[in-house]
Amino acid sequence: MCQRAGFIVLSIALALGAQAEPRRYDGYAVVRIAVDSAAQLDELTRLAADVWSEHAGLGPLDFMFAPGQLAELDARGIRYQVWIPDVQARIESERRATGRGWFDAYHTYDEITAYMNQLAAAHPALAQVVSIGKTLEDRDIWGLRIAAPTLPPHAPAVVYFGGEHAREWIGTTIPSYVATYLLDQYGVDPTVTELVNHVEWFLVPVFNVDGYVFTWTDDRMWRKNRRLNANNTYGVDINRNWSYGWGSDDGSSGLPSSASYRGPAPFSEPETCALRDFFISHPKVRALNDIHSYSQLILWPWGCTPTLCPDDATYSTVGIAMRQLILGVHNVPYTAGPTYTTIYPVSGDSCDWTYGERGIFSWSFELRDTGTYGFILPPEQIIPNNEEILPALLHLTNSAPVRATQMNFPENRPTQLIVGRPTPVRVVITSGVENVQVATAALHFRYHPQQDYTAVPMTPLPNGLFEAVLPATNCTSSPQYYFTVAADSGVYSSPAGAPELVYTAQMLSGTTVFAENLDTNPGWTTEGLWAWGTPLGGGGAHGKPDPRAGKSGAYVYGYNLSGDYTNSAPEYSLTTPPISCARQYGLRMSFWRWLGVERAPYDRARVYARHDGGNWVTLWENPTAETADNLWIYQDFDISATADNQAAVYIRWSLGPTDSGWAYCGWNIDDVRVYATACAERLGDVDCDGLLGFSDINPFVQLLVDPSGWSQQRPWCPALNGDTSGDGVVNFGDINPFVTLLTSQ
Ligand SMILES: [Zn+2]
Repeated sequence: MCQRAGFIVLSIALALGAQAEPRRYDGYAVVRIAVDSAAQLDELTRLAADVWSEHAGLGPLDFMFAPGQLAELDARGIRYQVWIPDVQARIESERRATGRGWFDAYHTYDEITAYMNQLAAAHPALAQVVSIGKTLEDRDIWGLRIAAPTLPPHAPAVVYFGGEHAREWIGTTIPSYVATYLLDQYGVDPTVTELVNHVEWFLVPVFNVDGYVFTWTDDRMWRKNRRLNANNTYGVDINRNWSYGWGSDDGSSGLPSSASYRGPAPFSEPETCALRDFFISHPKVRALNDIHSYSQLILWPWGCTPTLCPDDATYSTVGIAMRQLILGVHNVPYTAGPTYTTIYPVSGDSCDWTYGERGIFSWSFELRDTGTYGFILPPEQIIPNNEEILPALLHLTNSAPVRATQMNFPENRPTQLIVGRPTPVRVVITSGVENVQVATAALHFRYHPQQDYTAVPMTPLPNGLFEAVLPATNCTSSPQYYFTVAADSGVYSSPAGAPELVYTAQMLSGTTVFAENLDTNPGWTTEGLWAWGTPLGGGGAHGKPDPRAGKSGAYVYGYNLSGDYTNSAPEYSLTTPPISCARQYGLRMSFWRWLGVERAPYDRARVYARHDGGNWVTLWENPTAETADNLWIYQDFDISATADNQAAVYIRWSLGPTDSGWAYCGWNIDDVRVYATACAERLGDVDCDGLLGFSDINPFVQLLVDPSGWSQQRPWCPALNGDTSGDGVVNFGDINPFVTLLTSQ
């Protein structure tokens, strides 16, 4: 569920403040500066009234300065080029419609909503107004769904939306323009007709509705949503709030006052949360365009890393084609490329998530211009800008990644199977130009390379999903699998080239080695203010207060259960008793935390592991940004290097040393678990059923006296499972250790 707590209060505050005139920008100037160092970027960001460039990094950047501030630049010897001498003059000319047509002027959210309703009413068979979800202030994020009534059930869908950044008004015109064009030209233009017959379109003019409304009522230059942040600033940049790559200072900011503030946690904002849930509930979405302005760019993933994405060649082909189509209309040049290397790093943006998590062909356009008008593009450019973008979006909708028959894995394809547990696999089958016979969809699997594949039909579920189950198997399996479905052009397989190329999975044991829910006092070793009990919701002089209960049950281990930690304290720790991890491999440790600690190096919080005779190994320490949890957060660490096959392993949490100022609520810890993931060597499991038991006795005897007969019956089973003496050969010397293994079970 997407949390929208507090919106009623905010709505009332807005209603009370609605009489105020919008903020004026008389004498504000936008200038371009070639930023050549991080220090200069820092200086300019502090000096300027606002950063206009979509992404702040080194190179030419646009800044807005308040009246008189340009003299400050002169005084510091910073060279700049004035692009907009008076922002207010631009804002005023922007409000003047150039004609009487809908696309001769910009429109308010209410006007755009009314327009969408008119379009849907005029074309009831083709168009419906749908809500993507609600904003923080409880407004609907409206979109138009356009598709022919004869749309095949497995047709692909596309989502094109504008207005993620409130002040980028030109972006909000594109989805309505495309919708108008599709509805006007359906049955007239064969390309449009074909695309509406075979693709489900979702066109969403205004994603960040609250921010967009605010640009009309209060501040034309507002960018973020309208979240009231902890430090009384407003707004989260909802294009930095997605979970993929979230949290990096390289491409977003942890400062609530920043224009690119990423929010306290991924999907903390109802807008991003709503759109995420829309993608999850619409797994047939194959393409996305997140439309921004300005700079004239055609961008694709990644934003968070300079590494080329696996589909870069496909992106490049489609990107260059779209650039040529745009150029062909009004001769306006756009630059095409991956976000990170084409502009600057962006972390936590929509496209990295939709591509990285959902496999959606994901794009972000930056529309006109390159800085002459910036965000305040004159209304006479609305139609030409739309005219040049339209063919590019038609091309994108018609591109192979949208139109080809595809199988996708909305919940990711299994790469690991847990021993003894059936694993459901869900795929989405989308057809493009051809028909697919979904009744023929099948999962093919085998657990040993010498076996034949078994085919299992896939069961249809809602939303275009199909499910089949990989049956439970044991540690000795080497799973291989692929999918097929019959289509007009032949049998479609995933992966392409199956059964020569197939998907594989690794077996994991998933065995719980140690679990402590802390519902009764386990009596761990404590120092300082560490204690077992119920946290009382106290503290939060800085950051957030303690919780009032555990993640499960009432009890936790916490540092000062009734409030903040103390200043100027040494490092105090909480340590588990020894945990036996003998003959366990691939060990991991998980727990839930609710932690508040000042940013390092001022105050420290750490997690460690150690085995008997070894040193403490740091698993985690608090970062250089403050930690201020306001909910339980799951933590999971690989401790295999420290813990695998060790007779005694200890886990430790510590708080401190702390400095002389700023106390936070400290640690709260619950539901600690150590678990093995690797399939350990199964000594004695000579029938390879994953278990050591009396059923192994006869195969063990056979292995000793007739090894080739034993091997023929179970070609996948390693003979060394019978080497219970551990001397590297299977012989009569293994009998006594085998008996010991069986009887010590
Ligand atoms: Zn933007």
